[in-house]
Formats: sequence, C-alpha cells, structure tokens
Amino acid sequence: ARLSLKDPSLLENRALVAGEWVGGGAKSFTVRDPVDGAVLASLPDLTPEDARRAVEAAAKAQKLWAKEPAKARAKVLKRWFDLVVENVEDLALILTAEQGKPLAEARTEILSNAAYLEWFAEEAKRLDGEIIPSPSASQRILVLKQPVGVCAAITPWNFPNGMITRKVGPALAAGCTMVLKPSELTPLSALALAVLAERAGVPSGAFSVVTTTDAKGFGTEVTKNPLVAKITFTGSTAVGRWLMREGADTIKKLSLELGGNAPFIVFDDADLDAAADGALASKFRNSGQTCVCANRIYVQKGVVEAFTQKLLERAAKLRLGRGTEEGVTMGPLIDERAVAKMEAHLADAVEKGATIVSGGKRSELGGTFFEPTVVTGVRQGMLVTREETFAPLAPIIAFDTEDEVIAMANESEFGLAAYFYARDMRRVFKVAEALESGIVGVNTAALANEAAPFGGVKQSGLGREGSHHGIEGYIELKYVALAGL
Ligand code: ADP
Repeated sequence: ARLSLKDPSLLENRALVAGEWVGGGAKSFTVRDPVDGAVLASLPDLTPEDARRAVEAAAKAQKLWAKEPAKARAKVLKRWFDLVVENVEDLALILTAEQGKPLAEARTEILSNAAYLEWFAEEAKRLDGEIIPSPSASQRILVLKQPVGVCAAITPWNFPNGMITRKVGPALAAGCTMVLKPSELTPLSALALAVLAERAGVPSGAFSVVTTTDAKGFGTEVTKNPLVAKITFTGSTAVGRWLMREGADTIKKLSLELGGNAPFIVFDDADLDAAADGALASKFRNSGQTCVCANRIYVQKGVVEAFTQKLLERAAKLRLGRGTEEGVTMGPLIDERAVAKMEAHLADAVEKGATIVSGGKRSELGGTFFEPTVVTGVRQGMLVTREETFAPLAPIIAFDTEDEVIAMANESEFGLAAYFYARDMRRVFKVAEALESGIVGVNTAALANEAAPFGGVKQSGLGREGSHHGIEGYIELKYVALAGL
C-alpha cells in the first residue's frame, strides 16, 4: 500500500525455496523502512532445514542446467537482464524503501549491476577449454572448464539489488545453481529479482532466496552441507573469517568481498576540483555505507586548506531526506548501530585533537539521519584511520611526502580500494604500484563496472567479481590426459 508500483507482484511477501514460493505462517519477521521504521512487509523466517531443501533442489537443478548449451543459458540471463531494465522504476522504489538511498542512486545500483547479467550472458558462450601439447608425443592435454556446482550466496544490505546480480549472473552463466540468503534488513530487492528470474526462465530450484533472521543457522547449513561446492559472501571481515573456518571441514571454495578502509590521497599536483568531487562521491554516496567508501582522506600539506574548502562547499549542498523525495541526495543510515559507530569514531577523533568543521551531529530529521561530517586535524592512529567507519564521516589527514603517505595508506589489514589524485606520470605509476589494494582509482572515484575485476587483497577478501576473471570463481578446470594417440 505504501509503495505504488507499476507491477505490484514485484513486492513479494514469500520466499522462493526449491522452486516453491513459501509464505510466513507462524514464524515470520518484518522488513522496515529505515526512514521511519514503517513496516514494508512480513516475510517467512526460514530455518536451516529450509536452506537444506533449497540446496538439495539446487543440486538436482544443477545437473540439468549444466547440460544446457551455453547459448541457452545465455538466453535466459539476457532475458533476466532485459526484465530488470524494464522494471527498474519499481525495483528502485523497493530498494529505496527498504534501504533508504536516494532513488537516483537506487536506479544506478540496479542498472550498473544488471550489466553483470548481460556481461556474463555473453561470457557463458566463451568458456573455451584448451588443448596443450604434451611432453609425450602420443598424448595431448585437454583442459575442460566445468561449473563448480551448487553455490551459496550471502549478501549485505548496502547494495540489496546489485550484490545479487553480480553473484548469480556468473554462477548461472557457468552452469552453477545458487541458494541465496539476502540480508534480513533488505530481502525485498532479492525477492523482486527472483520473481523476474523465474519469468526469464531460470529453472525451478536453480535459484532459491531463503529469507531468515537466523544468519548463523543458514551459514552453518551451507558451510557443512557437502552438496554446496562454493560460498560467495559480501559483508564484514568477521563473518568472512567465520565462514572460512566453518567451511574448512568440507573444503569450501570461497569468494569473499569483505571490509575495506580505503585511503583517498590528494597530492599537491592534483586537480583539486576533481579531487573534491571524487571525495564527495566516494565518501557520501550511500551515506558512506559502501565497502569502497573513502575512509581516510590524506591531503598534502600545501593544498590541504584549499581542498578542505572545496570539499566543504560541496558537502554543504548535500540534502538529507527520504530517498523518494525530489532533490534528496543522502538518505538515513541503516540502523542505530551504524549511528553508534559513526559517533564513536567521531568522539575518538575529537578527544584526540581533531576539529569538526561541518556536521558532527544527528540531523534534525531524526531517526538515523546523520549530517555529512568533515573533520580536520586527524592523525594516523585515531580510530577513523584504523577501522571502517561506514558512515558519512570525512576525516582529513595532512601529510608531507609521497613515501610517508604510501606508508600510512598501507598501514591497514584491509586492501580493497584506494584512490589518489595526481597528474605527474612518475608519481601516478609509483603510487598506483605501491598501494596495497585490489583496486586503485587514479583521478576517479567511480570504480565498479561489469568489465573490471573487483576485489580485495590482504584481509579484504578472496576472488574477483566482474570481467572475464569474474567467472573463474564458478569454474573448475578438468585436465583430461589423452593417451594412445
Ligand atoms: P554488516 O555488519 O555490514 O551487516 P555482516 O557481515 O554482519 O555485515 O552481514 C552481511 C551478511 O552476512 C548479511 O546477510 C548477514 O545476515 C550475514 N551474516 C551475518 N552473520 C552470519 C553468519 N554467521 N553466517 C552467515 N551469514 C551471516
């Protein structure tokens, strides 16, 4: 009732388990709008046994799906892509309602990640094997690329739509099937995608969406169940570690997109306007709740005042509010826990001598709205430089030399994204090569797209999503030794 959709059937209040849509019955949980806590839907709170049924169905479906010609699998994915694009307005309304980001950001999330469905539909047809000359004259070495099998996916709330397509796309393309547990905070986008997947012709049981508040129960089931070959997870490093440990007994293959602590470096030869635009986008997009958000902004001493001024001018134009309202550029934080973390990082910085130059408090809109905040005089070692803030807090740290800032940037257990702005070519190469991170944005804050390999080093994860590399995590190489020739 709250959402006026062109196609109301996209707002599901059931889960999709083993090819059946199942309702809540006795055990259910509610999904709420982070703006005001209003109930959007009530969904079945499923058990590990439900997850097991989904896995068993996925195992059956996988045998048939893998036998389909790549061209047939590609066709289904392409149709799914088309349906997502056709329904982007409804999907964006659902996403904004459950997650809070502005509608324009929701549309961008959906379209830029639907592109993974299209991309992997194309890649499905190009999973070429190899014939390698053998050291023996009477033998040949054949290499086949085969699907790993049943995959389990666990996704977070910050990109409730995009995180699904970028995982299910390559899995289905490779001939795998998938059982997904979306975040309990934002399951409606995943269910809407499942409705469209079914319409596109994804076979019964090949893609299940298990809604549950028992994340650990689901995690235990999929890590222990020998039918699950692989787990793909996006979320916190703590949960990633846990999945790795739990999955050790059955040697689960893992793709992990974990936490980051992105340094954003502005050198004295940078285009300061471009750097300020980039910092604004990187820090405040999704209210600072992305794993590639600038977490620590290092600015060379000679330009620190000019840059800070430019960032402040831009931050002052951000408009907080409900994501469906015209002109709103920043939504609320996801929950009180997120606000508490922001406040803790801010308090620590201020206590140790940093200065709040804008924002610094909850918005008068109430709820979990927090003012975009800029803090200067931050020093290495403060909490904001060590932990991922995941909130609209921009800490500015002044530095002197290239070597000093490279050392500070690399002083982290994380290594997902890093950014720097510079024009000198020697500097560009030196710094890009020296930063310990899976992704480096040079003079840009826009990183993710379907054609590029996205992923982290160090404790930010394992594997890559996107590009021709992105399908490798869903493929096994089979070596066939062909003798007697
Ligand atoms: P965040 O703190 O950003 O919510 P989490 O790692 O806690 O990150 O959550 C990401 C996803 O992982 C969510 O779908 C959540 O339900 C799920 N999750 C959390 N704990 C576990 C667990 N023990 N096993 C499996 N999934 C989990």
